[in-house]
Amino acid sequence: MSNYKTGTKCVQAGYSPKNGEPRQIPIYQSTTFKYDTSEEMGKLFDLEASGYFYSRLQNPTNDCVAARIAELEGGSAAMLTSSGQAASFYSVFNIASCGDHIVSSSAIYGGTYNLFAVTMKRMGIEFTFVAPDCSDEELEKAFRPNTKAVFGETIANPALDVLDIERFANAAHKHGVPLIIDNTFATPINCRPFEWGADIVTHSTTKYMDGHASGVGGCIVDSGKFDWTKYPDKFPGLCTPDNSYHGVTYTERFGLEGAYITKATVQLMRDLGSIQSPQNAYLINLGLESLQLRMKRHCENAQAVAEYVKAHDKIEWVRYCGLEGDKNYALGQKYLPNGSCGVISFGVKGGRKAAETFMKNLKLASIETHVADSKTCCLHPASATHRQMNDDELRGAGVSPDLIRFSCGIEEKEDIIADIAQALQTI
Ligand SMILES: *Cc1c(COP(=O)(O)O)cnc(C)c1O
Repeated sequence: MSNYKTGTKCVQAGYSPKNGEPRQIPIYQSTTFKYDTSEEMGKLFDLEASGYFYSRLQNPTNDCVAARIAELEGGSAAMLTSSGQAASFYSVFNIASCGDHIVSSSAIYGGTYNLFAVTMKRMGIEFTFVAPDCSDEELEKAFRPNTKAVFGETIANPALDVLDIERFANAAHKHGVPLIIDNTFATPINCRPFEWGADIVTHSTTKYMDGHASGVGGCIVDSGKFDWTKYPDKFPGLCTPDNSYHGVTYTERFGLEGAYITKATVQLMRDLGSIQSPQNAYLINLGLESLQLRMKRHCENAQAVAEYVKAHDKIEWVRYCGLEGDKNYALGQKYLPNGSCGVISFGVKGGRKAAETFMKNLKLASIETHVADSKTCCLHPASATHRQMNDDELRGAGVSPDLIRFSCGIEEKEDIIADIAQALQTI
């Protein structure tokens, strides 16, 4: 499939039925799988044979959908998780443990920030946050001898900063650690971070990939290119024998292409069990089939809405990297030349109060915690997703108290704009 274009992979990658088999990826709604002998099952447990035995670790429906996403990103292996949060957690925890350190962009999703700064800190993993536009010196200074990875978002939710992926990848590689990129907002339709040097990609499939607000989910994709074996002291979990699997060494047995995802599956999924349900994996797949078509429309609508609000006298400011003059315009042109995403942010004149009036008078766009969906929706992060942050932390994450995150759906752009126009009149 790898020679086909992205839009073709959306529809066909990851699953090719044989003679007489179902055309659509079947839902394997089964917790367990049957074997003729205990010996055969034993081989699965020893990782000597591949196959399914229990859906807490792996399920065939999930694996087809993960393989499709791996092809879309140009990766070597992938796994689905029950949520984007689980994907972010596993992506880091697979290579870092108590006493380790991670460098992260400060412009990341509020849930990820809390996971890193509070919950993972309690597990003994320290994070240093750097602004995505920090100087090279600041970025360099953030690294420590025990740093195990660098983390960032292609397009930050909700700050909409575009990450200079190449610059962060170079800094990570100079220190012998991988760059993990949350590519949720761009999707592999608009940016494939591996092409810019990233090593691992995560997704909240809840957003554009599912696209229809029907299932929470996540995905981790490995590029298969990071050479863990060059740094065996940094990554003992991948480069030295795992006693819980009779001494298997993941990099030796599964190669660079398979080591990271295999370890995440057989250790983290086994022990923590945040697996996607096959039903939801099926829904993600339906979303993937139309992902390229939808992303085009999301971007077209967002560009039109951004231009409309930018010219409106009741709007204080607008952020969208597709707008000339936006502080991320140049990065957007480099990393997202065909469009970024359907999400824009803006502030209305009159601050928080005016924002509330505007939002409650929208008729087509609804107020939701959700984002990146086929139905237009909006949110005031400072009073919702980011309410655990103080003003300094909000500013660090690029979220001003008056910021409205406006997620353009795939409706007709004239209707979205007319809705905004009538709601702005009520301020
Ligand atoms: C929503 C989101 C997440 C978390 O994903 P869930 O599926 O809600 O757990 C992570 N990263 C980004 C960029 C998101 O938008």
